[in-house]
Amino acid sequence: MTERLTEPVSAALRDAKARARSTHYTVGTVRTDPDGTVYLPCSCGTVLRNGPTWTLDEHVRLHRAEAKYLELSAAAPPGIPRLIGLP
Ligand SMILES: [Zn+2]
Repeated sequence: MTERLTEPVSAALRDAKARARSTHYTVGTVRTDPDGTVYLPCSCGTVLRNGPTWTLDEHVRLHRAEAKYLELSAAAPPGIPRLIGLP
């Protein structure tokens, strides 16, 4: 018996993930202020940085996750059950 090979992720969603990766990548080098604030620009224009209660790495991870969410959400099939409701 052969197992049917199905595509686990549709092309539209795969493209959405790729779009998020290709439009949100860090550029340049980390800049550090005398007060200890570290900055790293994203290719979308957002300046990623640390803050009083978060690290630069945490901001980078959140930013990438948000970018991926926005792209996937826009490309998701209509009617798919969602964790976050659309307006
Ligand atoms: Zn970005």
